Amino acid sequence: MKPYLLAVMSLSALLLNSQLTQTPLMANLVKSNDPVATETSISVAELQYQINIERMRQHVYDLASPKMRGRDVGSDEGARAIAYIEDEFKAYGLKPWFGDDYLQPITTGAGANVAALLPGSDPTRRHELVLVTAHHDHLGIREGLIYPGADDNISAVALMLETARILAKHPNTVKRSILFISFDAEEKPEGRTDEKGSMFFVSQLSKDQRQNIALMIGMDLMAGEIIPGLPGALFVLGSEKSRHLSRLIQGRTPIDGLRPLPIGLSMVEAVPYCPWCERPVSDYDSFRQADIPFVFLSTGRSQYYHTPEDTPASLHYDKLGRNAAYLLDLTLGAANELRKIDDYDHDARDQKMDIAGAASLLGGVLNQPPQDIRDDTLKNLHKAQVTVAEFGEKSDPLSWFEYRRLKSISLRVQCAAARPSWKICNWL
Ligand SMILES: [Zn+2]
Repeated sequence: MKPYLLAVMSLSALLLNSQLTQTPLMANLVKSNDPVATETSISVAELQYQINIERMRQHVYDLASPKMRGRDVGSDEGARAIAYIEDEFKAYGLKPWFGDDYLQPITTGAGANVAALLPGSDPTRRHELVLVTAHHDHLGIREGLIYPGADDNISAVALMLETARILAKHPNTVKRSILFISFDAEEKPEGRTDEKGSMFFVSQLSKDQRQNIALMIGMDLMAGEIIPGLPGALFVLGSEKSRHLSRLIQGRTPIDGLRPLPIGLSMVEAVPYCPWCERPVSDYDSFRQADIPFVFLSTGRSQYYHTPEDTPASLHYDKLGRNAAYLLDLTLGAANELRKIDDYDHDARDQKMDIAGAASLLGGVLNQPPQDIRDDTLKNLHKAQVTVAEFGEKSDPLSWFEYRRLKSISLRVQCAAARPSWKICNWL
């Protein structure tokens, strides 16, 4: 992942969260018992109860261990990660997606995507697909150091696998079919290139297949607690592009300790010093370019992002469990409730949501500032809080300059959370 959702994970939060990993524990996290909208009697809460945090932890420790040497694209360890995911899909009884094969070698580059299908239970809708996706590659070894990539992005692979395992046991709970995909080659190469696993996957879809994708759910960095003053935050990006999608996001069942935070993509894709530029931060972009609806989930970029310290021990497994509950609910909602997205608008943005999102980020950092935050940074963030509050009171749309200011504030607060001692955070 290459986002600007930056922030710092406090040592106290890390120590606290490492204690909270009993399984299964979802029953007491889920407030509602709303039944899934199918003929089956099993509820979302009952499915969430089956979430096994220990299984997810094991995936992380297996796939992000030093032996996996950072799962570089095309490496032996990358191939071992691919085989691991394939074996899981087989064990769950899911069907191969590429003909008789679970693997799709990336012929334009290196590595392979892995995908498996859970057929939908409704004969009139099973041709439609909900994609639950993550990427499994990471940076490999650099200057003799292993980059384990536990949060980036085995956290999301573990969530995808656990959702696949549970839903495969209850195929009648989904009307649309669910396609679980682990992409290769997200980290490298940079930019828009067909060597990316997700880009290659999209390029190989038929026109019918593209049109039948109801929603792509992308995940990157899913087990961080990056702003201590904003506990349980899970950023939900892209819902501003469709009213149906926005309704799906707003309709999710509350989960104790989890705070889904819808925020516009432009709040994280903004580029410093280049007012007109926006930079995609993960695999969803391959789908966006093909006009396929998507939503992107992330807990944001921690201080360990793209460092050798992104290890299994640094993750927040209780949060991973809550995110699994959210992902299950979202996947079921997309499979059963979501109206076919026919109102997708690339350029759409939701001013109210963006202002509220920036206000939440600011509030989170200012309520519990990082210990080593600079005085001038703190002062600037307080000023920014006043600006954002003023934006919130406007009844008219923000001007181009005001929106640009909002995006800059979003970048600054993310920078301040992750790199509180850096003066440059004041200059973005
Ligand atoms: Zn990533």
